[in-house]
Amino acid sequence: LNRRLAEFGTTIFAEMSALATRTGAINLGQGFPDTDGPEEVREAAVRALRDGRGNQYPPGPGVPELRAAVAAHQLRFHGLTYDPDTEVLVTAGATEAIAASLLGLVEPGDEVIALEPYYDSYAASIAMAGGTRVPVTLRPTTEGPGTGRTYRLDLDELRDAVTDRTRLILLNTPHNPTGTVLRRDELAAIAELCVERDLLAVTDEVYEHLVYEGEHLPLAGFPGMRERTVTISSSGKTFSFTGWKVGWVTAAPPLVTAVRSAKQYLTFVSAGPFQYAVAEALALPDAYYTGLRDDLRAKRDLLAHGLGQAGFGVFSAPGTYFITTDIRPLGATDGTAFCLALPERCGVVAVPTQVFYDHAAEGAPYVRFAFCKRREVLEEAVKRLRDAP
Ligand code: PMP
Ligand code: GLN
Repeated sequence: LNRRLAEFGTTIFAEMSALATRTGAINLGQGFPDTDGPEEVREAAVRALRDGRGNQYPPGPGVPELRAAVAAHQLRFHGLTYDPDTEVLVTAGATEAIAASLLGLVEPGDEVIALEPYYDSYAASIAMAGGTRVPVTLRPTTEGPGTGRTYRLDLDELRDAVTDRTRLILLNTPHNPTGTVLRRDELAAIAELCVERDLLAVTDEVYEHLVYEGEHLPLAGFPGMRERTVTISSSGKTFSFTGWKVGWVTAAPPLVTAVRSAKQYLTFVSAGPFQYAVAEALALPDAYYTGLRDDLRAKRDLLAHGLGQAGFGVFSAPGTYFITTDIRPLGATDGTAFCLALPERCGVVAVPTQVFYDHAAEGAPYVRFAFCKRREVLEEAVKRLRDAP
């Protein structure tokens, strides 16, 4: 293993899911739904397979139907206009979009700012691109241990992190793992900073439809950002098909060209028949999107309530699949040790938030639980956590 990748090892998600399998524990670690997405979308994939659409290499930028559907989605939900021919690129999930964006836009030695704790592929992708990551820490507000506690971005710290070598800000909202959604004033300040210091932004918006309070605002919609933002999303979370790995990028033509230049040598193309199915999924009526959100909101409430009863400090989770908890009220301080022991103790797997930090001490007492699971699974997990010795 080369020096760029040596620090990364196996992803925490693979590690914790393997632990769940080995111990037979309920897996609230890795964020994937335990119910597949809409029947009609699965049927659309089968039809594409059967009709021979996408069984051979699809076009490099993605099939025209999906590019048109992505552009229509950006307009319908966010009021953003993109040309499907020059400003949309289909990728192998958001993961490839993130990697290809960094590989296509970052020069070796460039600094990339990311909000810590961050999704684990960011650090590895920055490293593969030869960039230097500069973490800016989201910190828990001090509003007490109960729900209502949340994470905030310190804008002064963000401003101070920018240097002459900063190339881009890699942003994620709604934010994994904290469950935070960046507010309008925070995004406006980030946009101003990008314009003032001539930075690019790469925004990971895979949880764009999973917002339970407040709203998701794409950074690309802020003044001066349309031309300097690579917006990334994916069908995994929005349609509950995390195994299909269909993602996309929307951006101005020069940025799409840069991302595509890297993408063509990573995977070239992927997921032919699934691209047609996702095109149909994106056109589902509003009721689908609100139904998904309402279902997940109820699950979040169930798990948040149960975690509180079990003695955890529970952060509010206005977005994503995840609830962050503070284990100190339980008398524990090391999230990693806590998560490694939890399956034996009570048959539940969670993820230590610590692994998403460069400043690991900042994240030590926090543990992330996923709530994208069936009600009865969440209820059983809550029961086990409440009864844990
Ligand atoms: N970004 C974030 C913040 C995620 O949580 C995930 C996991 N779904 C991804 C990117 C990866 O998305 P995909 O499965 O589409 O590659
Ligand atoms: N995004 C999911 C999570 O944060 C899992 C993705 C993965 O396993 N790579 O749990």
